[in-house]
Amino acid sequence: MPFDLTSRLAERRAADLYRQRPLLQTPQGPEVVVDGQPLLAFCSNDYLGLANHPEVRAAFNVGIERWGVGGGASHLVIGHSAPHHELEEALAAFTGRPRALLFSTGYMANLAAVTALVGQGDTVLEDRLNHASLLDAGLLSGARFSRYLHNDANSLASRLAKAQGNTLVVTDGVFSMDGDCADLPALCATAKQHGAWLMVDDAHGFGPLGAHGGGVVEHYQLSIEDVPVLVGTLGKAFGTAGAFVAGSDELIETLIQFARPYIYTTSQPPAVACASLKSLQLLQGETWRREHLQALIKQFRHGAEQLGLTLMPSDTPIQPIVVGESGHALRLAAHLREQGVLVGAIRPPTVPAGSARLRVTLSAAHSSAQVDRLLSALDIAWRALRQECEHA
Ligand SMILES: *Cc1c(COP(=O)(O)O)cnc(C)c1O
Repeated sequence: MPFDLTSRLAERRAADLYRQRPLLQTPQGPEVVVDGQPLLAFCSNDYLGLANHPEVRAAFNVGIERWGVGGGASHLVIGHSAPHHELEEALAAFTGRPRALLFSTGYMANLAAVTALVGQGDTVLEDRLNHASLLDAGLLSGARFSRYLHNDANSLASRLAKAQGNTLVVTDGVFSMDGDCADLPALCATAKQHGAWLMVDDAHGFGPLGAHGGGVVEHYQLSIEDVPVLVGTLGKAFGTAGAFVAGSDELIETLIQFARPYIYTTSQPPAVACASLKSLQLLQGETWRREHLQALIKQFRHGAEQLGLTLMPSDTPIQPIVVGESGHALRLAAHLREQGVLVGAIRPPTVPAGSARLRVTLSAAHSSAQVDRLLSALDIAWRALRQECEHA
């Protein structure tokens, strides 16, 4: 029988892979109400606590008064407003690149950049743990597509040796489900040796990483020659919405001419760009947010190690605890929720089979006392799971 959705959904449920959307009834922040329950949340990507910041909200409101609500049309028709343009210039200055191009989402920025740069006869090489939007972009491009071992420049080199045509190497800057940083110095050197271009999607690095929040490229001090294609998103640490590609004038013109996900979509509401301009200022200027976040990361890692939990090698606000089985991840998340703590259970296909995990994310908006609450809830949840396993 065609379209047997009933059994497809039932199989998904039986494999502990069924997904549900928690209904958020408050703004983003450490303390939320979800499905009617007050919870302390450790699962947002609002790493700097800007999504509900009074100054960002005010900038959004002023933007609406001045520019109305809708973008109205695509950028190439009459949807490219002055706030979009101003934000692009500010993002270019922020990234130290000649130009930046604004997109409505990171997913689209990635589809746009990859498909505009490579096609049939070319090669795209991606880290096997790259974000889904990058992998989808590689498939959509029609280029020969291959995935190298996670963060492994040797594995990349062996694939580069067989590459044909223009070759694009694509990596997350900070890996979204593991929290580790790409080994950009090694990946850059390898790509350069083979005449390939490196594209870095630093959705999770902009904001938390780098002295001024400039992400992994600032952290490693990498120039446009090292990373010709740099992607950032605005829905995470910026606390707003949208994304950008930063690079040379020619790169940006190429995207404007050829990138279908750029050309055939309505621009984001201009007021969102007004809000992003404000959050860019806060993100760059308020160094205390990064410092406080780093202190929380250290506190969490120290506490979790004392509890005997196994962490990933991550210095970023993404602190996953890999548990393996999807069912166990779900049970742990449920035990945490009973204690008023919300952490996401991340399961395949978002992560490789057998590596289901709790994805703890920290924010500058959290307090040290809240991280302590998380740690004691984790302790109790772990004991509860262990007991259940023993009695199973
Ligand atoms: C979230 C994310 C995206 C997608 O960005 P959106 O603006 O949410 O569409 C792209 N890349 C990475 C690495 C991400 O984590």
